[in-house]
Amino acid sequence: MFPTRPIIAALAVALASSAPAAPPQPPKLAVVIVVDQLRADYLVRFRPYLGEGGFKRLLEGGTDFTQAHYRHALTVTAPGHAQILSGLFGRDHGIVGNEWLDRTAWEQVVSVEDRDSPLVGINPGELGAAAALNPAKTGRSPKNFLGTTVGDALKAAHGADSKVFAASNKDRSAILLGGHKADGAYWDEVGRFITSRYYRAALPDWVEAFNAEKRPQAAFGQIWERLLDPAVYDRVQGPDDVVGETADFGFNRTFPKKIDGGRPAISPAFYDAYENAPISSVVLGAFVERAVVEEKLGRHPATDLLAVSFSQFDSIGHSYGPDSHEIMDAFLRLDRVVASLLDCIDREVGLKNCVVVLTADHGVAPLPELAPGRPPGRVKPAELDAIGARALDAAYGPLPTGELWLTRDGLAYHLRPYALAAKRITAPAAALVLQKALRTHPSVAEVYTRDELLAAPPEGDSVIALIRRSYHAERGRDLLMLLKPYHFISRATGTTHSGPYDYDTHVPIVWFGAGIAPAVRTERVGVDDIAPTLAALLGLPAPAGAQGRQLFPLPGR
Ligand SMILES: [Zn+2]
Repeated sequence: MFPTRPIIAALAVALASSAPAAPPQPPKLAVVIVVDQLRADYLVRFRPYLGEGGFKRLLEGGTDFTQAHYRHALTVTAPGHAQILSGLFGRDHGIVGNEWLDRTAWEQVVSVEDRDSPLVGINPGELGAAAALNPAKTGRSPKNFLGTTVGDALKAAHGADSKVFAASNKDRSAILLGGHKADGAYWDEVGRFITSRYYRAALPDWVEAFNAEKRPQAAFGQIWERLLDPAVYDRVQGPDDVVGETADFGFNRTFPKKIDGGRPAISPAFYDAYENAPISSVVLGAFVERAVVEEKLGRHPATDLLAVSFSQFDSIGHSYGPDSHEIMDAFLRLDRVVASLLDCIDREVGLKNCVVVLTADHGVAPLPELAPGRPPGRVKPAELDAIGARALDAAYGPLPTGELWLTRDGLAYHLRPYALAAKRITAPAAALVLQKALRTHPSVAEVYTRDELLAAPPEGDSVIALIRRSYHAERGRDLLMLLKPYHFISRATGTTHSGPYDYDTHVPIVWFGAGIAPAVRTERVGVDDIAPTLAALLGLPAPAGAQGRQLFPLPGR
């Protein structure tokens, strides 16, 4: 018997659908949302209190990698942002801190400092006394970033047919997400969005117009109160008033908080308060929505890339910690900002034509006062410096009055060239003396010399492997200290991040849009996996040297 007509038609359909699918259209717009200091557990802990259309839309409609970690040890802002779209570690991308000591000039350099790229849209004198004294140090560009990004690959493949746009409250976050070829990178200073000569000679009209609306200034004198009933925050986070929180920027330790910097008129103190209140994320969200419209993002012949990093969340975490009413409220308010931004992108481009990825640059430790076992936690750096100097004096004899053995750079030491020359010793020999002495401090977990780190195997997830990945041979220090969990330096109150422990490395990675299925994935993945995955979704090669792997097969292939 021959098949009847309907069966032939059905067979034809079956054959057609089993043939290799045509490659799907690449997304019109890739959206990278970074929340500075967003711990992965916030998405779980605060989820019952989320609104519609923001983080919940991403979590329910996308693929949520719940065990994503940085596979490096230097969990701070600039190295994290440098990794997200490059897939590289500090070992290769060279961003070894928010700032570091340039060993040739023996001078601190900011990660995104570039004397040849002066700021555009602001007079350096407006940035404070230090900037006024040395305006060349205020220039900004990705010059010190030694990698390339997914955005750079887009521009290399498509040129002017693709636009790459980045914005943040922090210069380093916008610049490092933007890569070397961004069409625009903007950040805010004293209530204005600015850029640098690296990108353009003058602010575009739409940015001037946005600044002229003076949205930050309109926040002067506003009261920050909790969105929900305070009893909800008590239940989820514990009491509002906790020893160890920072009362700064004119704010009380408890709600309500008046956004005026403690002064009767707009002053630099007001801008500090503004940057430490959720309103600055609202204004950044509005700026990015304006950019979507004005820069026609998602409406160019090839894929565009929009990267935004919300920095204010980080400063609130530093001041009040992850178990505070303040961080919960900042998160719930940011949820509304993200909802509005996603709505805007849906109107302008259609979210089904976009791929969205949500992540963070690092997590944060609890306040030491609330940490397991209540460790002493807050280490005085002068104690460490004194231990080191005493040991070197004992081994080699004291230096002439006024000369120093060491320059400390965060949790690392450089041996000063004068001291080494005066005593005719080598840096590796002195580093061994220093290592032995610093190991005696009760808060120090381990001390690594430069030679040990350079010889360390880069594979695996051991602490030394994580530290090795953050260590750049030319920009590295002579000696690195690792403090015990829940210990850190330099803060009398508040908390911080910067180490290889889970509370610092565990961040969200959520993918949404462009055919990505709703799923929860619980295997351990790395933030370095984002760049190769995003590149594949956009039909691009992974950035050169990218260390991660593609996290899922391409939708429809
Ligand atoms: Zn950060």
